[in-house]
Amino acid sequence: MFGKGILKGLAQTGKQAVSRRLTEKYPEEKPHLPERWRGNTFVLEKDKCINCGLCAISCPNKVIRQKFDKDEDGKKICTEFVMERQYCLFCGLCVEACPKDCLHLTHEFETAVYSSADVPQDLLADNHSNIAISRYGEKMPLPKPVVSPKPVNSTAVAAPLAAKPAAGSEATPEERGKA
Ligand code: SF4
Ligand code: SF4
Repeated sequence: MFGKGILKGLAQTGKQAVSRRLTEKYPEEKPHLPERWRGNTFVLEKDKCINCGLCAISCPNKVIRQKFDKDEDGKKICTEFVMERQYCLFCGLCVEACPKDCLHLTHEFETAVYSSADVPQDLLADNHSNIAISRYGEKMPLPKPVVSPKPVNSTAVAAPLAAKPAAGSEATPEERGKA
């Protein structure tokens, strides 16, 4: 029929126009990120930090630069806490290692800068506390597994197993050579 293709195209366009939208209009709209999603900025809750240095020790890439000193009362204080993010894998091992749960990854990902000097993040000067924190490292219930609507074809899986000879009944290398 003449014009059948055009009608099919229009029908498809109409269907898409009224169906649920799955894409997000980034950058006009901020994406809906999963709670555990790990961005590339850190937040330090300075008042909770005990200056133990475990985060730096646990980092596989030596990203965390820390310096410690003692105050007039002899108490250990942190004088430098810089995340050299240019080397960071965003693996989250430092977050997991923190015994006080005071170091966090965030949901921040728009961190392009003009100079490489701006990449390291000084957590004592600016800890980006206004950014949404990633819940990575927290104990949370796992999401429910997605159940496939199609049943698994058991014969297709069982067939290769059935074809395999039982243990002990296989031909020896010598027998295979005679055949
Ligand atoms: S996220 Fe991983 S690579 Fe980055 S600072 Fe933490 S431990 Fe190091
Ligand atoms: S592991 Fe946690 S408490 Fe220890 S120095 Fe790092 S941020 Fe502070």
